Amino acid sequence: MKFEKLAKYFERLEATTKRLEMTDILSELFKSIDDYEKEVDKIIYLCQGQLLPVFKNVEFGMSEKLMHRAIVEATGMPTDKITAHFRKKGDYGETAYDLCCLHPATKTVKDVYEQLNTIAQATGSGAVAKKVGILAGLIRQTSPLEAKYIVRIILGKLRLGIGDATVLDSLSLACAKNKSLRGKLEVAYNRCSDLGLVAKILFTQDFRYIENFKVIVGCPVRVALAARLSSPKEIIEKIGECAVETKYDGFRCQIHKDGDKVTIFSRNLENTTHMFPEIQEGTVKQISSKRAMFEGEALAYNPDNGEILPFQITVQRKRKYDIVEMQKRFPLKLFVFDILYVDEWGDVTGQPYRARREIMDKVVKPGEVLELSPFKIVKTEKELAEIFDKAVRAGSEGIVVKRLDAGYRAGGRNFNWIKLKRSYEDKVSDTIDGVIVGYFFGKGQRASFGIGSLLLCVLDEKSGGFKTIAKAGSGLSEDDLSKLKRILDKCKTATKPKDVDSLIRPDVWVKPHYVTEVQADEITRSPIHTCGKTNKNMAGFALRFPRIVKLIRTEKSVRDATTVKEIIDIFKIQGRRK
Ligand code: AMP
Repeated sequence: MKFEKLAKYFERLEATTKRLEMTDILSELFKSIDDYEKEVDKIIYLCQGQLLPVFKNVEFGMSEKLMHRAIVEATGMPTDKITAHFRKKGDYGETAYDLCCLHPATKTVKDVYEQLNTIAQATGSGAVAKKVGILAGLIRQTSPLEAKYIVRIILGKLRLGIGDATVLDSLSLACAKNKSLRGKLEVAYNRCSDLGLVAKILFTQDFRYIENFKVIVGCPVRVALAARLSSPKEIIEKIGECAVETKYDGFRCQIHKDGDKVTIFSRNLENTTHMFPEIQEGTVKQISSKRAMFEGEALAYNPDNGEILPFQITVQRKRKYDIVEMQKRFPLKLFVFDILYVDEWGDVTGQPYRARREIMDKVVKPGEVLELSPFKIVKTEKELAEIFDKAVRAGSEGIVVKRLDAGYRAGGRNFNWIKLKRSYEDKVSDTIDGVIVGYFFGKGQRASFGIGSLLLCVLDEKSGGFKTIAKAGSGLSEDDLSKLKRILDKCKTATKPKDVDSLIRPDVWVKPHYVTEVQADEITRSPIHTCGKTNKNMAGFALRFPRIVKLIRTEKSVRDATTVKEIIDIFKIQGRRK
């Protein structure tokens, strides 16, 4: 496919905010691909502004300053002229479009992809000049429209608003003329987190490969999540005999072992391997199988007395620098709670809980870092309540209850796992992970920090967008306010982000990027919030007396935020409790 053709699709996609229209355009694009084997994966990554799936951590390493240099080099124009044009347009994509030469469009998607890849791969001494040189050369040989999108991809500013859900719908539409394949495609995607790979298999292999998609060592599996219920009674009524484990308050690790190579993915599938050297070593020492994939919760402990430390300390281990120093002060233990793959048994996600636990018993050897998360099988509400009370008394957040006959369901929040958390004096018993989409300047003393409260959203799993649920300011210290202002100003935007649905206009909009944890007294109906508001006359849901309890949840991405459906579930639980 010619890159110009793809750029024209980008132009059409950019012009719409309607998801259905986007789905139609994308499916038309997918149908028009010449060589599925070589192109479909690249086209999907590029549509999402990437070169590879997010978990591969590919970065171009080009700032706006370097982009400026590349455009100067490509156009031969004085730097002042480029600066003036950029100031007028506010976008280097438009700047390249207006100022670069009228070269005919001759490059294919593959040509451009390869060049982009070379730019991303350039590291070490001389890398900057190399990146600028290749990009300038590329811009010189492309049409203005092509240049515009190349520049935006490199700067991470393509932002066509194409979420994973839209790609999955469009793939189904392209192949089956309707959305009937969407469910199966999503299951496959949940098992590898790579839309390009799923699309390639869809278009080049028998559909059975999609239906029987197996997990792959090296490709993170989208994690299974826990649903909520409000009492031991409800849990036993829902799933009967079950296994109970402590709910550890640390961070989740999904670990892939391939011989001596260990990769650690976070809950939102970031590669965090380099942060946790002891988990890497522990995995090599304690996992008997050559290749394996398993999950656990990492917790910091006091090396002097072995005492497990609170989340606020554990989370300090998620850092890019001073890793060795922090490892000495706060070493980690990993409580292993699930297993997804082992060479001897293959993909074990379809096996029931007990079978997976038996496999874990065989594969995880005793040692210093990995420890199996203990579990107890219970049949009655009373037994469950006793374990819950004991866990809470011991300082735990609560328990995770697991259905005995269920497999590991990738990417889903369902009743295979149920969390029961200690309730906060009858307040909404679980906290909400809200996405920050804007802030208000605030009054009085707060005005001096330039930020007083936040506009928060939850994730609408149907559209992939965000719906407002609260304006929250309490719980924030002066330090928090200054920190937030610094962080949020880096992603502020002049207009409402395309994927945010809001009736409220904050003083400053910010791109949905950060998740904050909020405690509330209650979920109430509200006409001003869009969460759960299905038409103009219907009220949405809001948080009553929201308080920020964890400023920024670095381990969660906006895709892990609480969803509209969860809010409705909590609202129902609250009704039952009353
Ligand atoms: P939440 O993030 O509140 O939805 O709760 C689910 C999280 O609890 C998982 O993502 C894990 O990180 C964490 N967790 C702690 N202990 C366990 C356990 N024993 N089994 C499963 N998940 C656990």
